[in-house]
Amino acid sequence: MKKTVFGIAAALSLALAGTAVAQGYPNKPVTMIVPFAAGGPTDIIARIVGDHMSKTLGQQIVIENVAGAGGTTGITRAMTAAPDGYTIAMGHLGTFSAAPATYPGLKYDPLNGIQPIGLAGGTPILIVARKNLEANDLKSFVAAIKATPDKFNEAHAGLGSVSWTTCTLLKGQLGVPKLNAVAYRGTGPALNDLVSGQIDFMCDQIVSVAEQIKAGTIKAFAVASVQRSPALPDVPTTTEAGLPEYQIEAWNGIAGPKGMPKEAVDKLVDALNKALNDEATKKRLLDLGAVIPTAADRTPDGFGAVIKRDAAKLDPALKNAPR
Ligand code: ASP
Repeated sequence: MKKTVFGIAAALSLALAGTAVAQGYPNKPVTMIVPFAAGGPTDIIARIVGDHMSKTLGQQIVIENVAGAGGTTGITRAMTAAPDGYTIAMGHLGTFSAAPATYPGLKYDPLNGIQPIGLAGGTPILIVARKNLEANDLKSFVAAIKATPDKFNEAHAGLGSVSWTTCTLLKGQLGVPKLNAVAYRGTGPALNDLVSGQIDFMCDQIVSVAEQIKAGTIKAFAVASVQRSPALPDVPTTTEAGLPEYQIEAWNGIAGPKGMPKEAVDKLVDALNKALNDEATKKRLLDLGAVIPTAADRTPDGFGAVIKRDAAKLDPALKNAPR
C-alpha cells in the first residue's frame, strides 16, 4: 500500500518535473553543431553569435565541431537528434541549399524536414590565392587557369560545401570543370595551407579570409558581390575585375530538427535577434566582412524561404557538376 502511494507521488513529481522542463527552456546547455573544423567561417560565426545568444538564454551554447562530407555529417547528426531544442546546428548555403542537389541520398530534408531558426550572417564570396601565385589580378588568373588547368590546386571543404559549390560555379562559367582539388574538413585548415603556399586557390566566405588578405599573407582577386565589401575596400568586385557573370552570395544560418517545441524555437529566434542587434556582436561580424541579416531573414519563415530560393537557384548547376 505504502509502495503504491509512493509510486503515485513519484509519478506525480516526475510529471511536474516534465512540465517544468518544457516551460523552463533552456535548463541546461544547448549544443550547436558546427559541421566543419574550427577556425573556418561557420565556426567563427557560430562562436560570435553563440556567445551573445548564451547570455540571453541564460545557458551556455556549446559548440561541437562535427566535420565531414561537406558539412552533411554534422548537419545529419543535428537534424536527426531529439527535437527538444538542445541540439541545433549552424549550417550554411552549402549544407542547406546545395546539399540536396549534391547528395541524392541526403539523410535530412533542408527544404521541408528541418526547423529553420534564422539567418546568422551573410558572407560575400572571395576568390583567394596563395600570395606568390604568378597571377596578380582576376583576368590573368582566369587566363592562366584556362591555359593550364592541370597546374592549379584548388582547396575546398568537401562536396556540397560553400567553397566547393562556389568554385564549381566559377569553373563551370570558365569552361574548366576539372582541376586538381584537395578536400579539407573546413576552410579553416585549407586557409592554413593557402598561407603556407601548399595549395593555389579557393573560393571562400569572407569572414575567415579577410584578416589574412589585409595582412597580405594571401591575395584576393575579387569579391563575387554587386558591391565591394566595406571590410575589404581595396578588393574589386567580379564585375570591376572583368567577370561580371560570376556573382554569388553565401550565408550561415541556424536550424534544428523538425518538431522542436514552439517555446524553444521562439527563445532561440529571440536570442539570435538580440545577438544581431547587439552593437559589440555586430561590430565583430562587420569587421570580418559579414553582412547583418535583415529582420525578415532572422525568422524561421524568412530563413526557410532563403534556403528554398537558393536551392532552386543552385540545383540546375550542381546536379550535373563534375565531382
Ligand atoms: N566555408 C566552408 C565551406 O566551404 C566551411 C567552413 O569551414 O566554414 O563550406
